[in-house]
Amino acid sequence: MLDEVYKEYGEYFYVPMTQGYSVAVPVTLGCSWDKCLYCDLNQGNRFKFFGLEEIENRLKILNKFYSNRKKPVERVVMAGGNPFCLDTDILIEIIHLIKTYFPQVKNISSFARADDILRKSKDELLELKKFGMGELSIGVESGNDGVLAFHNKGITREENYRALIKLEECDISYSTYIMLGLGGKRLSKENAIDTASLLSMVNPQVIIVVTLVSFKGAKLVEKIRNGEFERLSVLDSIKEEKILLENLHMRNTIFNATHKTNALILKGKLPEQKDILLNKINKALEEYDQRAMRNKEIYKWRNWSLE
Ligand code: SF4
Repeated sequence: MLDEVYKEYGEYFYVPMTQGYSVAVPVTLGCSWDKCLYCDLNQGNRFKFFGLEEIENRLKILNKFYSNRKKPVERVVMAGGNPFCLDTDILIEIIHLIKTYFPQVKNISSFARADDILRKSKDELLELKKFGMGELSIGVESGNDGVLAFHNKGITREENYRALIKLEECDISYSTYIMLGLGGKRLSKENAIDTASLLSMVNPQVIIVVTLVSFKGAKLVEKIRNGEFERLSVLDSIKEEKILLENLHMRNTIFNATHKTNALILKGKLPEQKDILLNKINKALEEYDQRAMRNKEIYKWRNWSLE
C-alpha cells in the first residue's frame, strides 16, 4: 500500500533524524539546489513538486493506512530534499490538506535550506507557524566559509546565521545538521572551531552530528581521487569532534551524534552533559588502537559502498 505513496523515491529517502516517528507525506522529489559536492541524497532525481492533487491522492492512502492505529497521527513531515523552498501560499495549502486527512496533527516539519528561510518574510514564517509548521531541519554543515564554498553549498556562514535567528524570532524550533570531516585534512580544525562558534551564537533544539562519507554518486569522489580533497581518518574525525564539542557553548541543546556515519555514538544535553560527552571522546581516543580504527574504517567503507 505504501509503495504507491513513496514510489518516486527509489529504495530509500531521507527525513530529518528528529522526525523518525512522523508520518512522511511526499511533497517534493530531490532538492532545488542539488549542487553540494558531497551529496548523493537525491540519487540523481531532479527536483520536482508533486502538485496539490497528487499530494492529496497520497494523503488519502496514508489516511487509510493509519486509520486503524490506536494513536492518532500527530506529527507529519513533508518528505523531499527541501519542500520549504515552495512558496508560502502553496505550503499553506499543503498544510490544509494534511489537516484534512490528519485532523489531530499538532506538528508539521520539513528539511529546509537557509536560503529557503531567508526568501520568506517574517510575516510568512509566522503564518506558517500559526498553521502548524513548528519545526524545521537545516543542513548547516559547517560554520566555515571556505569549507562551504569548496563543497558548493551555495550558502555562507552569515546566511546560515541569519536564517536560524529568523526562525528563533518567529518561535519556530529547528535542528541543525553539521558534518565532521567536511573540511578534509586541510580545514579540519577550522571546520570544528568555526562550526562551534556559529552554533554557539544560536539556539537549536538539536545539533545532529554526521560524518562525511564519500557517496558513490557524489561529485566529491572525483576530488578525492585526484587528491584535491583528503578525507579524515576515523581517528581524526573523532579528534575533530572533540575540538567541536570543547568549543560549543550552548544554552539548551541536545547534541545528537548517533547517526550511523559516526565512528563514535554520542548523545547528551548541552551544557549539562558536556563533560560527560568529552570524557567519552577522551576514553575512545585512548582506547581505540590503530587496529580497531582500521576495522571501523573498513566497515564504514563497506557500509557506504564507496569507490
Ligand atoms: S546536501 Fe542538501 S542542499 Fe545540498 S544538494 Fe544535498 S539535499 Fe540539496
